[in-house]
Amino acid sequence: MINLILFGKPGSGKGTQAEFVKNKYDLIHISTGDLFRNNISNNTELGLLAKSYMDKGDLVPDEVTIKMLESEVNNHPNAKGFIFDGFPRTTVQAEILDQFLITLKLSISMTIALEVDENLLIERLISRGKDSGRSDDQDRTKIQNRFDEYNKKTSPLINYYKNQNKFFDVDGVGDINEISYRIFNTIDNNI
Ligand code: AMP
Repeated sequence: MINLILFGKPGSGKGTQAEFVKNKYDLIHISTGDLFRNNISNNTELGLLAKSYMDKGDLVPDEVTIKMLESEVNNHPNAKGFIFDGFPRTTVQAEILDQFLITLKLSISMTIALEVDENLLIERLISRGKDSGRSDDQDRTKIQNRFDEYNKKTSPLINYYKNQNKFFDVDGVGDINEISYRIFNTIDNNI
């Protein structure tokens, strides 16, 4: 079973590339951002709570995010593997994910980080926001806050996974298919 984490700043292409990886390796794609957005569209209590954080570009609290993630994994007992996109984003989430996977006799195979410069990401996010209408993609202050959240809370995970020898960098700039090819190579050469 292959269990991957796709890691990277907002706009680095995690969602797009996770779909390619999911199709190639027959994995279940779990995006916590998409799960929150589905909850918001369906006006659930969880959606209402998540929205108050997402609208500002803040992370949603760990306990809420972890509970949602665990329930999504438990919904796929016959999965051949998972690709986690946008989760974990804090050390607490990473530690609890490891413990949770142990209870299922699973583990993270590797973490792949898409590397893209912040200036390029801002342009990508603003352009994505125009197409999607996502409010957190349309406001430079919110975008900067999401980068700050990433740099403060998520970037320590690089060392967390390096210490487990599970961290790999991929250049996230260039043609979409070329980036997929780099990711597939990284998986195939290191799994
Ligand atoms: P994304 O679609 O991955 O860029 O996520 C959009 C927003 O959803 C983030 O800015 C956070 O507010 C929230 N979110 C998504 N995943 C997480 C997570 N693992 N922990 C906390 N908040 C999250």
